[in-house]
Amino acid sequence: MEKSKIYEEGLENYPKATVVLTNVLLLLWFGFAAYGMSALKFAGLPVVSIGYLLFALVMLGFVLRKHLCTQCYYYDKWCGSGWGKLSSCLFRYKSGNYEIGLKLAGVTWGLLTIIPVIAIPLAMFMYGDFLISGGISLTGFLVIMAMNQFGRKTGCSQCKMRYICGASAAR
Ligand code: SF4
Repeated sequence: MEKSKIYEEGLENYPKATVVLTNVLLLLWFGFAAYGMSALKFAGLPVVSIGYLLFALVMLGFVLRKHLCTQCYYYDKWCGSGWGKLSSCLFRYKSGNYEIGLKLAGVTWGLLTIIPVIAIPLAMFMYGDFLISGGISLTGFLVIMAMNQFGRKTGCSQCKMRYICGASAAR
């Protein structure tokens, strides 16, 4: 890690309230997305929602924790999402590849954003009786996404990694 670029004024550990709020917002994100796509079924199963949630769990719960968090200042500390602590429970320090992690993070969050934005209107178009439920889910998803973007700027401005992290919203 490039010690010289660490933002010394950044938080050593984020408040637990921030960690809880970040994860509640993410649960709402995945909740609105999964429900909004639940009308898209195969053999009676909401396959798009199931696939979406499994992808999110594997990538956010494991792959990115391995490649990003094991190389991060907040490894085994409380960052804004608390995932530095999760990573230290799962993987050894520096056992991942930060460059791969950054590339995968961009693709992951891109897909987790664009899939519901396409699939929910598609579900509303295909199933007339899902129009209102789909509309509420899409609105909720877009509101949470906007709050997340706004929250990221504030969170990144307090982060020790703000000048190192390729996904920083406060360079
Ligand atoms: S700030 Fe990001 S990369 Fe660092 S530990 Fe937290 S989630 Fe992982």
